[in-house]
Amino acid sequence: MNKLPSLLENNRNWAKQIKEERPDFFENLSQGQQPEYLWIGCSDSRVPATEIVDLAPGDLFVHRNIANQIVHSDLNSQSVIQYAVSVLKVKHIIICGHYGCGGVKASMQEERLGLIDNWLLHIKDTFRKYEEELSNYEFESEKVNRLCELNVKAQVENVCYNPFVQQAWNDGQSLTVHGWIYNLEDGLLNNLDICIGSLKEAKENL
Ligand SMILES: [Zn+2]
Repeated sequence: MNKLPSLLENNRNWAKQIKEERPDFFENLSQGQQPEYLWIGCSDSRVPATEIVDLAPGDLFVHRNIANQIVHSDLNSQSVIQYAVSVLKVKHIIICGHYGCGGVKASMQEERLGLIDNWLLHIKDTFRKYEEELSNYEFESEKVNRLCELNVKAQVENVCYNPFVQQAWNDGQSLTVHGWIYNLEDGLLNNLDICIGSLKEAKENL
């Protein structure tokens, strides 16, 4: 049986280093969390949420799935949003896609992959909606990357029309929804200039 000794050793070294630098770090965190941000991103191993924005444990409430989808009937993501917005009262929700996303790419192909096809159907809807615009791109990689951006925009819409987000805005809670995309080639985040902070802005911009 392989008990993954290298990862467990990594963990011990990591905890030791933090304790040396900030002796009360874990004790403070164990009292509770008050993150300001909810991060919704892709499961892709190359897009680790906390690391790419250089934050620490406790700073980011995170939900990740294949191709950063927010589906209204998905109890998992809906529960995350409710808890983050209604209980933790995060101030920002960041939907972060990434260029070259395998899930987005797969949604553009006819090949059947199994269960994941059902999950990707939602991106196929976005693909069909913007098929004309996407046909203007000469290279497949450009088309994929544009659909990655459009997918972020579609998920921002889904978050903004989530009932808990709408309720928060109705109650005057400070909450802004952002659309970002990550570039695997240089490690940089691209702000898609989607920034919605009220019911009015959602109606005007989405
Ligand atoms: Zn991805």
